[in-house]
Amino acid sequence: MPAKPQTITLVGAGLNGPLLAMGLRRHGFTVEIYERRSDMRRVRMSAGRSINLALSARGIHALTDAGLWGNMRKIITPMKGRMMHSVASELTFQPYGKNEAEVINSISRAELNIALMNAAEAEGVRIFFQQRCTGMDLKTGFVHLHDEQTGEERTVESAVVIGCDGSASAIRNEMLKLNRFKFSQQYLDYGYKELTIPAGPNGTHVIEENALHIWPRGNYMLIALPNIDGTFACILFLPFEGNDSFAQLNKHNEVLGFFQSRFPDAVPLMPQLTDNFFSNPTGAMVTVKCSPWHVEGKALLLGDAAHAIVPFFGQGINCGFEDCTCLLELLDRHGADWARLFREFEQARKVNTDAIADMAVENFVEMRDRVADPKFLFRKRVELALEERFPHLFVPKYAMVTFHRIPYATAMKRGTVQERILAELCASIERIDELDWGKAERMIGADLTPLELAA
Ligand SMILES: Cc1cc2nc3c(=O)[nH]c(=O)nc-3n(C[C@H](O)[C@H](O)[C@H](O)COP(=O)(O)OP(=O)(O)OC[C@H]3O[C@@H](n4cnc5c(N)ncnc54)[C@H](O)[C@@H]3O)c2cc1C
Repeated sequence: MPAKPQTITLVGAGLNGPLLAMGLRRHGFTVEIYERRSDMRRVRMSAGRSINLALSARGIHALTDAGLWGNMRKIITPMKGRMMHSVASELTFQPYGKNEAEVINSISRAELNIALMNAAEAEGVRIFFQQRCTGMDLKTGFVHLHDEQTGEERTVESAVVIGCDGSASAIRNEMLKLNRFKFSQQYLDYGYKELTIPAGPNGTHVIEENALHIWPRGNYMLIALPNIDGTFACILFLPFEGNDSFAQLNKHNEVLGFFQSRFPDAVPLMPQLTDNFFSNPTGAMVTVKCSPWHVEGKALLLGDAAHAIVPFFGQGINCGFEDCTCLLELLDRHGADWARLFREFEQARKVNTDAIADMAVENFVEMRDRVADPKFLFRKRVELALEERFPHLFVPKYAMVTFHRIPYATAMKRGTVQERILAELCASIERIDELDWGKAERMIGADLTPLELAA
């Protein structure tokens, strides 16, 4: 008789859970997912949980491997660059990449989640909703569940448990009880609020469709990402306390006055502004680092559960999907030797997830402040010119992270070197034709080795 296939339990049917489940199912395992929420395909999502995500190379690679990217193209909107809105309502466009192929892709989180759950179920994955994991026995693999509808408690047993349960992971909470488990969580002093720009007549976009719009204001910012139905999903990032903060916006006229003076061209686009503002919750943003991510071959953390990052590089899910790619590649290589797999997975990923966590925090300053600085925009143009001349040596950090699958730690290290080169080359010039190409070649040749870039 053939051996009974091992059952793998995943906690969390967010974005990583269903994608990983599909890959595991294709390796012949029985896969079950337990999810705290109701099934969003049947129950309307609560307000303020509709953010858009920017999908880029790493996410696209994982979705392509899963055979899902072709269909997903129908629900994404490519964004070619940042459209900056000044207080005087002037627009400045800054392309993300060196050509029109280098774009990031706006997708509704809910649409992506639904597509992933449908695909996982079609593959034979079983998803159980309204099942909140309340803990697990890390030795036996018993997972304890609370049925949110009936109040019933039960326990399921499986060979392996993978916590895909996000930044407040219940599986990680269990690991926190272990000796020498390292854990840090760093909250930003900023919160975020989701807002909406509705579609124009006949579902048209009322501002440029193929751009990520930013209203950078030094200490805070508003952003807007396009949807295929003509709407834009906006996020206001603002300090919790102090001047120009959420703490100061408690009445409709205060919110309206704040927007009218800081984001004047956005106000006429947002007829529901104050209603949205007060009905949507204010979210917090956290960086979570921890280690180890696994307990023997029994339990593993993946995605935000292992490494939540702040959203300013648009990499959270791209990074999580890259986790899935990495784990499934290791499974191809070694088979179901879970203890070895989990060890090698963490070895391969942790250094990189730590790097993107740090780069994401740094990028907040770039987005909310530096993109409004003409010197910064000039340096971005010089970067692209250097990339054009030295395509295998000088690739802008943003491009290494977003358009390539160069390990994040490598991107961070090379980014620091490139920043120094750029600062020196731009120190006394104001136009690209003043660039000292000889000096650029010498510095780049001395400090950077060629990169292997996928075709
Ligand atoms: C404002 C904002 C903007 C962002 N923008 C981007 C972007 O542009 N690009 C990008 O790549 N990333 C972005 N991200 C990050 C991205 O959303 C996350 O990295 C991604 O959702 C992580 O996926 P996950 O599956 O690990 O966790 P989640 O998507 O959080 O899913 C976890 C799932 O587990 C369930 N769960 C939690 N606890 C339990 C429990 N005890 N029992 C059972 N189920 C449980 C939850 O209900 C949820 O369904 C953004 C994040 C935020 C907050």
